[in-house]
Amino acid sequence: NIFYDDDADISLVKGKTILFIGYGNQGRAQALNFRDTLKYAKTDATILIANLKDSYAARAHEDGFEVTQDWAKATALADVIFLLIPDQVQPKLFNSKIGPSMKPGATVVVASGYNVFYKLLDVPKGANVVMAAPRMIGTSVRSRFVSNAGYPCFVSVEQDATGNAHELALAISRGIGATKAGAIESSAREETLIDLFAEQALWPTVINAFTEAYKLLRANGCSDEALVHELYYSMEPAEIFEKCAEDGFVKQLVYHSKVSQFGQLNGALSLDGSEFVSRFQKVLKHQIIEGEFMRNFSKMEKAGTLDKELESLFERAGKTELALGEKLVFERLGHSYGAA
Ligand code: NDP
Repeated sequence: NIFYDDDADISLVKGKTILFIGYGNQGRAQALNFRDTLKYAKTDATILIANLKDSYAARAHEDGFEVTQDWAKATALADVIFLLIPDQVQPKLFNSKIGPSMKPGATVVVASGYNVFYKLLDVPKGANVVMAAPRMIGTSVRSRFVSNAGYPCFVSVEQDATGNAHELALAISRGIGATKAGAIESSAREETLIDLFAEQALWPTVINAFTEAYKLLRANGCSDEALVHELYYSMEPAEIFEKCAEDGFVKQLVYHSKVSQFGQLNGALSLDGSEFVSRFQKVLKHQIIEGEFMRNFSKMEKAGTLDKELESLFERAGKTELALGEKLVFERLGHSYGAA
């Protein structure tokens, strides 16, 4: 099922207090969208932002929002609570300050299924839990709202205490602009499985394939310049993915030469895939469904070692031939290397 603006009754939030916890990537975009939706729909509701007193809070203030640092007091007033802080810090803050202060019948909104699927949030029985999970980074959630294009979003009801959580989920989704292009009915389980699978099985395979391809072709005399340009610097792969979205994953192949079409299709169809499949199955079952990844990740977060572990992974990945080669090429091209 896909839900559009007409399926959502924004008047359900009329007179309500909507609290955004966190004013980061998603928090800012969703709060601004919500305020504009209320304005266009001529519906009154109070929007509050809760954030530590820092540059995020200052930005919310500059954007004209009322900002508080008193999580518990703000929560006690709120009818709808958007939990828009990083997934790994949600359980500690929610379970100590938010959950115990919620008024009966209030609705918690998560933007990712992770903490709900793994039951890491102690949500009071009398509260609704809904998911509105944009498939977009925050800046696009805002820019695509402003340009009226909308963006894809997964929506679900995870706990229905008031009997109208579905209608509320749609009203909330409309508030953040998620029903403009169509909000896709999903679940915290589905969102978590797809998201973590892409992150832990699919993209690692792609990263590994690129790294090994780079090494092999380099060993066969191909230059760093040629490899970096061919593999991604030219943006050709990015354009191919754009064509996949426009014309279809397979159908976009018509834009390639016959040599390329034959090579890609024949190559893909003759791969047996069993090596991938058995690893994919293991990741899905043990790491994701049985929660091994979540337990290890929570352990690192609690021990305060996550940033150090990540730093060491970046350091290892930075020593591959691909990473060393691209650094050289970027420097030769006068292109700054690495995100700001
Ligand atoms: P951000 O990293 O941008 O969140 C930053 C916000 O969280 C800031 O307001 C920050 O405040 C606050 N914060 C961080 N740590 C703490 C803490 N310990 N206590 C209180 N507040 C804290 O998060 P995102 O917007 O990226 O993610 C929010 C949710 O949206 C997550 O569930 C994520 O999975 C989901 N999501 C994210 C997407 C993305 O592209 N980023 C896409 C779709 C969903 P301060 O710095 O002041 O502490």
